[in-house]
Order: sequence, then C-alpha cells, then structure tokens
Amino acid sequence: MSRSPSDILILITNDDGIHGTGLGALEEALSARWGTVVVAPDREQSAASHALTLHHPLRMVPMGAGRFAVDGTPTDCVMLSMHGLLPRRPDVVVSGINQGSNLGDDVIYSGTVAAAVEGTLLGARSMAVSLAPDTAGGFDFRQAAEVSVTVVERMLAEERMGGYLLNVNVPPGPPGSARGIRVCRLGRRIFREGIFPHTDPRGRPYYWIGGQDPTWEGEADSDFQAIEDGFISVAPLRLDWTHEEGLERIRRWELDRPGPRGGGGEPGGG
Ligand code: MN
Repeated sequence: MSRSPSDILILITNDDGIHGTGLGALEEALSARWGTVVVAPDREQSAASHALTLHHPLRMVPMGAGRFAVDGTPTDCVMLSMHGLLPRRPDVVVSGINQGSNLGDDVIYSGTVAAAVEGTLLGARSMAVSLAPDTAGGFDFRQAAEVSVTVVERMLAEERMGGYLLNVNVPPGPPGSARGIRVCRLGRRIFREGIFPHTDPRGRPYYWIGGQDPTWEGEADSDFQAIEDGFISVAPLRLDWTHEEGLERIRRWELDRPGPRGGGGEPGGG
C-alpha cells in the first residue's frame, strides 16, 4: 500500500494570492519531499470564507511549471483542481501559509481554512496553516513551513482522515523557537466595538468593520492559549456541523405537532 513520495501529489493553495510569500515558503518546503502543484487565487481573497464563483467564467492561467492562478476564490481553486483539471487528483490539500493567524471563530470567515474544508469535502486529507505576526508585524514563514512538512508526513501515514481537517497555527519566531506542538480545540473571539460608523463627503453614513484588536477566551486546551504560550496549535475540525445536544433538544420540540404552547417554555425546561 505504501507509495513512494514522488507518487504523492500535494495541492497547495491559499487566500493571500499566488504571489503570497507564505505560499512560496510552503511550496519550497513541500516540493522538496513530494510532488506539488500550486493552484491559487490571482489576488488576495482573505476573509472570502467558502465563497464559490458561479456568475463569471473561471480561468486557470499557467504561471510557470506546476503553478496556476485562478481569478476566483480559494474554494474555486480546490474545486477546479480536484475535478480533473490536473493530470492527477491531489492526495493532500495544504492551504497557506496565511499571513496572520486563524484561531477560534476566525475559521468561519477564513478563506485559508475554507480551502482545506473544500479539500476534505472532496476526499483529500487537508490542512490549513497560518502564521501569527511578530511584534513588529513581520512574518518569518520558515517554522510554519517546517511544521507543515511534519503534519503532512503524519497525515499521509493515516489509513483514512474522513470528515475532518487540521487547522494549524504557528506563533512568530525563527525555526525551533516554538515551545512545542499542542493538539487543541477552537477558542472564542471576542470582538469589541467592531463597527465604526463614519459619514462620507455627501453626508451619507458608512461603516467600517473591525478596527480594534479583538480579544479571546478559551480553555487551557484552546488554540488561542497555545499560541499565547508560544506553542504551535493543531486543531482537528469536523465538517459535520450537527450539534448533538441541539439535535436531541429540538427533537423534543415536536415541531410537526399542531399548536404552539405559548411562551412558557418546556415544562421543567430552561
Ligand atoms: Mn489571508
């Protein structure tokens, strides 16, 4: 069953665009070990989430050997790549290295994570990798590139990895500076005064989302805590969003029975 490294094909994509420095660092590290192909958006698509382009034609423009730029989203890139537009179907999808972390609730908005979600949906072992900035706002991608190789190695050794992807975040610093690797759950973002109202020169209101740095909360095993403590975080994320407790509770509503019982809530419920 074991295949030689050159038989493995890794699809590399991102949401920072094909010219992203993090993408280049990832390609360099992975292509030293395995076959790689880069299919990435032709411009930045950060916070594109899982958007799919349905209203204009998509083009895959060759950008040198094994590299293609797509005028679409990260999800478009994975879709095109996994549906036969490459000479062979990629075994693994690696998305990143994103310039900026994708921790906790960030994963909902992240184009980087969305590409790995799409890879998982289409049956590939998939990971997203993101790098937190240093205090000067700079990025040294080498450590994140190294850990990507480590994680891909382990993914390839798994029998199967159905239904979940890995979300990897790396603290700032040169190779070897992280204190270790922690397997984590997602923490929670806390956005403070996230909307800034302004007035345009014609007197009409407009709004700016974000601004102040959000804070976070999370348990000791949360991804935020890991990065704060100087560890690399690896969070397995499920694609099945079904909430087990919610499933039980909403079933008890018996929604197909006639007549609401008023605003009193369930007997004995809360
Ligand atoms: Mn990005």
